[in-house]
Amino acid sequence: MTGHDTYSLWIGGRETPGNGEVISVQDPATGRVFAECHSASPSDVEAAVQFAHEAFRSGAWSKAPRHFRADVLDKAAELLSLELPQLIELEVRQTGRAIREMKAQVPSLLRWFRYYAALLRTEQRPVLPTAGKLHNWLERVPLGVVVQITPFNHPLLIAVKKLAPALAAGNSILLKPSELTPITSLLLGPLLKSAGLPDGVFSVLPGLGSVTGTALVSHPLVRKVDVTGGTAAGRAIGCIVGGNLARYTAELGGKAPLVVFDKACIDAAVNGIAFGSFVASGQTCVAATRIIVHSAVLPELEEKLRAKSESIARRIGSPSHPESSMGPLISSRQLQNVETLVGETLSGGAGYFYPPTVIASASGRSITATRLWREEAFGPVIVLVGFDSDAEAVELANNSDFGLGAAIWTQDLSQAFRVSEQIDTGIVWVNTHHRNDPSSPWGGATSASGVGSENGLDAYHAYTTTKSIIINYASTEESLVADDWFKEGAAGVRYG
Ligand code: NAD
Repeated sequence: MTGHDTYSLWIGGRETPGNGEVISVQDPATGRVFAECHSASPSDVEAAVQFAHEAFRSGAWSKAPRHFRADVLDKAAELLSLELPQLIELEVRQTGRAIREMKAQVPSLLRWFRYYAALLRTEQRPVLPTAGKLHNWLERVPLGVVVQITPFNHPLLIAVKKLAPALAAGNSILLKPSELTPITSLLLGPLLKSAGLPDGVFSVLPGLGSVTGTALVSHPLVRKVDVTGGTAAGRAIGCIVGGNLARYTAELGGKAPLVVFDKACIDAAVNGIAFGSFVASGQTCVAATRIIVHSAVLPELEEKLRAKSESIARRIGSPSHPESSMGPLISSRQLQNVETLVGETLSGGAGYFYPPTVIASASGRSITATRLWREEAFGPVIVLVGFDSDAEAVELANNSDFGLGAAIWTQDLSQAFRVSEQIDTGIVWVNTHHRNDPSSPWGGATSASGVGSENGLDAYHAYTTTKSIIINYASTEESLVADDWFKEGAAGVRYG
């Protein structure tokens, strides 16, 4: 007996013991294990897929009236709002993220359920201009069993971003949270059941990517995989999904450029850099990590940014303290990764803390030749480089395999339009950073950053397939004349 809380799988509408290796869940602020979590073996995956498939075929959710589905999503938002204190506390414990951040992030999830509920209530079905006396309209129908795989950095946010559109569309979902942070996702099971979701439509299967993840994405009944994670995982999963001719959405890595022009408000830009770079201890896919600054304002910006970083560093501490500015990194492995890229070892105390770190070029653009410029550190480490012209700024911003988020700081509107058009990323923010809304697409523009996008109408469509229904409304007399292709001596009959 360990004396820790133990969490089971959630399959077929109830807690179910897992047959995989038990996962020890650590508190990254102390390095101590505080919970055990069952993991799903390949046979547990098989059972869950069968439950999901049967639930889909029953039609209890997949063919339910859209208003019923919308009501369940709205109810899920209501129940989630009642569970917030418990969910926030657990999210802080397993991720090590400062409670200030989680108090802001977790309540925002209600909006995803409500947005997709509203979409179901207002969606219009197109009637197409198909030639002939034909009434041709499109239905959106769900795909079937879908798999969602999430990372450690925003466990609940990313699960709900994926769940809400998939549920709205009527799919049966198998969610595999990160093995580092499996707990809060499990609590969504009973919550959705209480909201009215039929059993088997939503299951949660914690486990390692190489075991549980591989079994899930390889299953031939799975019609879509939606993953958020690193580029290597995205590529490995994509190979399997492609072989099964299933659909694929992948939200992968980033190395976001943040360009500060000489016409920017420097104080606002420094605040924006600090938020974009150091929130979640720098462990976000859109973290502003390549700070590209006009030479005329570089010295002032660097001085202010270093002062800001020192202020944040002074307030680093226990994530559950309401005034802590920043928590630790997720694991000792992640800490080592950051230390390797920066080239200095800071560890020593308990927990995986790393201070905000700003690294400038030793000379000219020398920083752009480092691994730190090219690879995700996934920690609070940023690099600074100067430029003299718009063209140079764009070239530096686009000098990356990644293409997820980017930001521009300038008060010159024309410059903001011109430059944002030239930056090759899926999201460009101007005078802000890391804004996320259920209506606003979130996805990469290069393969290293992923395939497809989350949020908005597109995410809902990506969880459906179109069904084109064509009704001939010509009179029987007209059809007899025009539609008898094999009539002897036929002329003027229609084909296709
Ligand atoms: P990771 O790639 O290590 O793991 C992500 C998830 O994939 C986990 O659940 C893991 O178990 C699973 N997994 C890994 N290999 C797998 C495989 N071969 N088959 C099936 N499942 C597999 O990522 P992480 O360290 O948890 O998260 C950090 C990464 O996620 C960063 O690269 C970050 O940029 C990215 N991320 C992207 C976005 C986005 O929206 N684009 C958002 C957050 C994080």
